[in-house]
Amino acid sequence: MTQEADHAATKILLSEAEMPRRWYNIIPDLPSPPPPVLHPGTRQPVGPDDLAPLFPMALIEQEVTTERYVPIPDEVLDVYRLWRPSPLFRARRLERLLGTPARIYYKYEGVSPAGSHKPNTAVPQAFYNAAAGIRRLTTETGAGQWGTALAFASAQFGLECEVWQVRASYDQKPYRKIMIETFGGTIHPSPSDRTEAGRRVLAADPDSPGSLGIAISEAVEVAVQHADTNYALGSVLNHVLLHQTVIGEEALAQLAKVDARPDVIVGCTGGGSNFAGLAFPFLREKLAGRMDPVIRAVEPTACPSLTKGVYAYDFGDTAGMTPLMKMHTLGHDFIPDPIHAGGLRYHGMSPLLSHVYELGLIEAVAKTQRECFEAGVTFARTEGIIPAPEPTHALAACISEALRCKETGEPKVILTALCGHGHLDLPAYGRFLAGDMVDHALSDDAVAAAMAALPSVPA
Ligand SMILES: *Cc1c(COP(=O)(O)O)cnc(C)c1O
Repeated sequence: MTQEADHAATKILLSEAEMPRRWYNIIPDLPSPPPPVLHPGTRQPVGPDDLAPLFPMALIEQEVTTERYVPIPDEVLDVYRLWRPSPLFRARRLERLLGTPARIYYKYEGVSPAGSHKPNTAVPQAFYNAAAGIRRLTTETGAGQWGTALAFASAQFGLECEVWQVRASYDQKPYRKIMIETFGGTIHPSPSDRTEAGRRVLAADPDSPGSLGIAISEAVEVAVQHADTNYALGSVLNHVLLHQTVIGEEALAQLAKVDARPDVIVGCTGGGSNFAGLAFPFLREKLAGRMDPVIRAVEPTACPSLTKGVYAYDFGDTAGMTPLMKMHTLGHDFIPDPIHAGGLRYHGMSPLLSHVYELGLIEAVAKTQRECFEAGVTFARTEGIIPAPEPTHALAACISEALRCKETGEPKVILTALCGHGHLDLPAYGRFLAGDMVDHALSDDAVAAAMAALPSVPA
């Protein structure tokens, strides 16, 4: 790389004219396609009609497309322009503190209206639903990032947005509720008494803290019952990962401006969408032999679906209403400990990302939350951005890698996605700073127990 180009750059920007005009679909570039999604009743592969009660046909087509590129509609590009292209930063102050010869770059998605990468998919999902004549969207949210993003996107296209938020987060994080309502959305704590699925959980445990799996069951139930209502999912599915590839496409173009090529790419994984969005365009380059980065997913030790889960068919929700997806899972009725990274508390992992992991194209590690918050505080004190609890996992892995480089003297280029800011997660930082935070690791017995409920499917 040219030293001059690199020395000039701390914040690497693209112009609006350089914004990607298409999303990248990795499926045709993989050595084998991911296994089919199965109908929960017949356990046969689902067809488009099976998904039609929940999603508009344009998104169903994107879910199964084998085209390498999908054009981004002009209406979506118009909204993306409110915050895209997002900046790529070189973390010079963090590098200096660590005394590492490595160069650390982070793609910052906290500049979006919701403060995370989630609007990258919320906007096209709202657009395609509005274009199909849908009036209302239902969804679940954990920490509240996805609910906020979908409420914002729904307002852009004149849709109503109804959100079920995991009870524990609803009580702990009142500001997300206010943000969702400010964008015009409606929000209920989950489990709620508005759905069959919610009432069943409440009957068994009136004080249930809820889970993403339960909230999904509630939102899906309402969408299935109303013809003018569809459901929107903020992670996990192929079309969500597809939309998020704007992150990686922009980062590729930004790194090219400073003549840098990543040796290591790290990202946090909840359902896998920000990680895949960053990594897949680079994986395309790797599969084509143009670069050779190590690509590493980072998950919490409290919810380690890649490093401790099994690769098996499972439901996406707790009540067992969704299609069966082959994915890394801890079991659909697994309720993780209440770690502060609410976005990483999902029992499964994107089927497409799970498949890529099975193919050996990426690695995975798990981190405890105190190590992650430690990294988050170090990052805030050097780079000036307080990260959301989720990407502190990626930052902890960046710091470990940079410190390894210090030992070996290797000047590696490390790339990560800082997928959201933590301005609405400050109570978690308060806990950490007060020395009040505990680590949760999942014992092998707990993993085995969680796995007992996996559904059986014909071979
Ligand atoms: C939702 C969320 C995540 C987890 O979702 P992925 O699909 O794995 O990206 C991570 N970070 C932030 C900031 C989130 O809002």
